[in-house]
This record gives sequence, C-alpha cells and structure tokens, in this order.
Amino acid sequence: MKIAKSSPLYAQLLDTSNSWEIIPKINQFLANGGCAGVYTVDDTPHVSGSRNHFHPSGDIGVCERFLYYARTVELPTEPLDVGLIRIFKTGDVFHAMIQAWIKAIDPEARIEESFEIGDLVRGRIDVIQGNGICVEIKSASSYNYQRFVKEPKPQHVLQTAFYADVCKTDYGILLYVNKDTSEMKEFKIDVMDLSEVYASWLKVEYAVEHKNPSELEYGCQFGSVEFCKCPASRWCAEGRTIPDWGVFNIK
Ligand code: SF4
Repeated sequence: MKIAKSSPLYAQLLDTSNSWEIIPKINQFLANGGCAGVYTVDDTPHVSGSRNHFHPSGDIGVCERFLYYARTVELPTEPLDVGLIRIFKTGDVFHAMIQAWIKAIDPEARIEESFEIGDLVRGRIDVIQGNGICVEIKSASSYNYQRFVKEPKPQHVLQTAFYADVCKTDYGILLYVNKDTSEMKEFKIDVMDLSEVYASWLKVEYAVEHKNPSELEYGCQFGSVEFCKCPASRWCAEGRTIPDWGVFNIK
C-alpha cells in the first residue's frame, strides 16, 4: 500500500523533528521508499565473551553466585533444538536490518561500537546515533514481545542505561522488535546510578580471585523453578547451609 502524501498518516510520519524516538524516523524512511542497500548479517559462531570481564549484555542484573560459578566451573549446556537455532538466527537478521536502516537514515551513526572500562567491563553497543544516543535492539517472539512492551525486562533497562552512561548521554533507547510480525516499540531509558552494578561485579571478581563465594548474594529461593532451571544449582547448593533453606547435599 502506498501512503498518500496528502494523508494525515503521512504528515505524522514526517513529523520527527524534535522527537527522541527512532521508530518514526524508520517509518518515514520506509514510507519514502528508503532502502538500506546490501548489509551483512553476522552469522559467525558465537564466542563467549572473556570470563575475566563483565559484559552488560549478559551479566547485568544476574545472580552474583551464577556469575561466580560461570567463571569457576564448567557449567552444563543443553543442546539447542534446531528450530530454536533458526529462531535465534532470525533475531540476528532483524538486528542487522534495523542497524542498516538507522545507518541509512543517519550516516554518522556507529554500529557495534566496542568499549572497555578498565579491566572490569567489556561490551558492544548496537547503535550509537550521530547525536550520541545509543539504541539497544532486542528481538523477541510474539509472546515475549507482548510481555516486554507492557513492561521492559529490568536487565534490558539496566543494559540500556549502562550504555547511555558509557556514551555520556542522559538517556538511551531500548527498542523491541517482534520477530513474528516486525512490530516495534521503543522506550526512553534515563541514565541511573549504576554503583550497585559495579559493586556487585567487584564482589564477584574478589570472590573468584579468592575462590570463595560465601559473601555473594543468592539470586533465587532453594527449590524454586528458577533454582531447578539454573545450570549452576548443584554447585550453588551442594553442602552449603543456605539461609532459611536448610542444608542441601547432592546424593
Ligand atoms: S541456583 Fe539460584 S542462587 Fe544459585 S546460582 Fe543459580 S540463580 Fe543463583
């Protein structure tokens, strides 16, 4: 369907002047017949990030004990169903497509910009627009998309706020895309005090160095669904007295 230039919708699409939002700019670009040309989808094998560093993409808001065991033992991994692998790869396609659209709209934008903070943190930011505002793209199935657009996942909010802090801007954009319908919704995430995030990572780093997790917080209740699903549960629980949970021993 072509959008008539005289229609209110067209005018609305064009009205992006003062908005922080990126979706109206993408819609305007597409409505004007914009194309991003040839772009690359990264389908290289996934390599886990250095375990000596913390990564906002996977380590923010995560149970301190899980971060400890992820760095000290070989955690079991479940073989992935091939259907799930295809779905994950579809997410990579959406990622690349949205990055390419933003780059076409804003040639000053930087894509997949790496950063490091001392020896503690390493990360990569999906997009830093020409104005310095970061965009964190999260693709999700319809089911998760509906959940996230009602209430963004706290880890995603923290990750975006972290990147905004790295970019030294007041806010960042968290953009969800529905892999089943291509719907998009974005949230403006203000920077926040990240001292608790840093304190938690430093605690884990100290525990790893001293091979002693006793001061680390538990992230779930003993016997809960989360506990049963956690790949680190047997190390986390074995032989320990867990406050209010009793002693657990692996038979
Ligand atoms: S079982 Fe719970 S407390 Fe232990 S590492 Fe996993 S999430 Fe953390």
